Amino acid sequence: MVDVTVIGGGLAGLACAQALQARGLTCVVLEASDGVGGRVRTDRIDGHLVDRGFQVLLDAYPELPHVVDRSSLGLRPFIAGAHHRTRDGWSRVTHPLRHPVRAIMDRIGGSMPWSDARALAPLAWRAWRSGALPALGASSAHGLLVNAGVSEATIDSFLRPFFAGVFLDPSLQADVSAFGFRFSMFARGRATLPVQGMGALPVAMAARLAAGTIRLGTRVRAIDRSGHGWMAQFDDGAMASRVLVVATDGPSMRAIVRSLPERPWCSTMQFTFDLDRADAPRAMLEPILFLDGISRGPVNHAAAVSVVQPSYAPDGRVQWSANVVDPAWLSHTDSTLETAVREQLCGWFGSTAPQAWRLLHAQRVIHALPRQHAGDRPPEGTASPEPGLVLAGDQVGDASINGAMASGRHAAALAEQALSG
Ligand SMILES: Cc1cc2nc3c(=O)[nH]c(=O)nc-3n(C[C@H](O)[C@H](O)[C@H](O)COP(=O)(O)OP(=O)(O)OC[C@H]3O[C@@H](n4cnc5c(N)ncnc54)[C@H](O)[C@@H]3O)c2cc1C
Repeated sequence: MVDVTVIGGGLAGLACAQALQARGLTCVVLEASDGVGGRVRTDRIDGHLVDRGFQVLLDAYPELPHVVDRSSLGLRPFIAGAHHRTRDGWSRVTHPLRHPVRAIMDRIGGSMPWSDARALAPLAWRAWRSGALPALGASSAHGLLVNAGVSEATIDSFLRPFFAGVFLDPSLQADVSAFGFRFSMFARGRATLPVQGMGALPVAMAARLAAGTIRLGTRVRAIDRSGHGWMAQFDDGAMASRVLVVATDGPSMRAIVRSLPERPWCSTMQFTFDLDRADAPRAMLEPILFLDGISRGPVNHAAAVSVVQPSYAPDGRVQWSANVVDPAWLSHTDSTLETAVREQLCGWFGSTAPQAWRLLHAQRVIHALPRQHAGDRPPEGTASPEPGLVLAGDQVGDASINGAMASGRHAAALAEQALSG
């Protein structure tokens, strides 16, 4: 019998186990799959590091220093900004505080009106300084931007696709506080990729746990109250503990804790291409995000990830990640989508080259992120539904890497309270 059983070895479960052990408590992590990380894992395919869905690590996330030595991850940053495809071609927006010279040049040659730059500047300044944004009387990201004076044209051509890539939701209806947090993380820090892929983050977190803490290949089928604690049942046994933390994804959590309210999910699909660097259109070889600002195809956001982090592709090759988030496009079959993705990329780079790129991997993630519209977040108290039972993960907290880790640390504090109560 341990003090706490943690179900799920994603970021939330690992952060929880770290915090429990730091408090001197004993715990075990039961993980259904063959590795830690949950939605943050990296596969090696034909010499490439391929993340399970395009993800970035924002180095300003406040939870990071609690769970990992950031310098051990070998992070390489994207240019802070994005190229966005407009009706007149590519236009670039860069972070004025990080890349001041580039930002001025982009402003002069770019398509964003000065009035929009003037409306966004005070938001960026506030986000940089305080780590949040004022709601400006709005309940959604779109309302906040409109009330700040940003034009619909700039919202549609730049901010909508940018934040569609963040929330995996093109509606821009995210709750203002979730939007403000992400806006401030981009204002304060950089989007990065670790040298061993995004999956290196949970691996580094797991390495900090006591030997024998994690039990892989153990899918919990049911939980029951037992004596003064809880019993987690899996196929070849059961684990008793005084407190149980359920840190799984939402659908798995509802299968175990039936009282949990249903929350809508956002999906995504990543097409990962492998191409010869010598044949790659020069325009795509910049370590920056590429956005579709005119909705002319399925790809919302894309990047030459191996230009950002060279370890992602073998020497002489480029790994290009093209991502779909629009539910209307996601309703198509994989092969229809692939054809449309290639056509769109031909339009982007003015060549037929993308038709010949080798598809390395196509990955659909149905339950990628819980939707984050106003009112979607579960009410206060959801994390401790019954005595000795604690819930963690992006399902009950903010839906992000930071949110999952924060909810794990919070769950450890609730577990300690339950043990001493
Ligand atoms: C494609 C994609 C892109 C994303 N992009 C970003 C980004 O750029 N930045 C960002 O901050 N966030 C991003 N996110 C979100 C972020 O990855 C998640 O919010 C976070 O990883 C959730 O962690 P978690 O621990 O809550 O859940 P999970 O990662 O889902 O972990 C849950 C774990 O529980 C295990 N499990 C489930 N059921 C059981 C069971 N019955 N018994 C035992 N184990 C079980 C699962 O195998 C899994 O390992 C993205 C997510 C996806 C999918």
